[in-house]
Amino acid sequence: MNLAQIRQMMIYTSEKMIESEPTLTALDQVIGDGDHGIGMQRGFAATLALLNDDKFQPTDIGDFFTQIGTKLMTSMGGASGAIFGTFFRAGGKSLNGQTEFNSKNLSTLLNEGWDAVHKRGNAKPGDKTMVDALAAAAEKARAVESEPLEKALPVIADAAMVGAENTKTMIAVFGRAKNLGERAIGHVDPGSVSMAYILKYMGQAIA
Ligand code: ADP
Ligand code: MG
Ligand code: MG
Repeated sequence: MNLAQIRQMMIYTSEKMIESEPTLTALDQVIGDGDHGIGMQRGFAATLALLNDDKFQPTDIGDFFTQIGTKLMTSMGGASGAIFGTFFRAGGKSLNGQTEFNSKNLSTLLNEGWDAVHKRGNAKPGDKTMVDALAAAAEKARAVESEPLEKALPVIADAAMVGAENTKTMIAVFGRAKNLGERAIGHVDPGSVSMAYILKYMGQAIA
């Protein structure tokens, strides 16, 4: 996929993330402070405005995702603004100079993004954060690197959703959910669902 095509993909993804606000809000109301849906909606509304602006002319795939990350980081706020911003910025940086988005580049984006999110926030798989979806996606992406993107993306998104579902069994190590202790068990981490949704909608956009 070229730059024009991934721009369309991320326009669709942004629209769907904006629509997901009530679902994400409801999840954060159960084990957090209830602002995750609004934060994501604000971040992807700002991203959508960027993508629909003719003045946005990224030089390559890396610059494209880096600028989305900066937009999320500066518009969202909250823990997830820093985390999702870091993910796209670091993932994007790892693709500097690339003009084609394929499964190999997606794998690099996810794996380098995960590395940076870990360095930024210290979460590891099992801590009940978006890392549980991201790490599952990054691992699956390495396994399907040689598949065409339209086949690989839905498989990677499914792995991320399984990772998100698995957070139900976990006790939280970060954020307000941490104070709930075992009472967080049975409830999914909102950020992990957002991570899985982003990949699901990217997959839908190119299906
Ligand atoms: P806040 O917690 O500041 O209200 P949000 O509600 O927008 O922010 O986002 C909460 C989500 O951020 C959590 O569901 C979790 O997935 C993610 N998160 C929080 N802390 C971390 C961290 N240290 N590393 C990775 N993800 C994190
Ligand atoms: Mg919150
Ligand atoms: Mg908050």
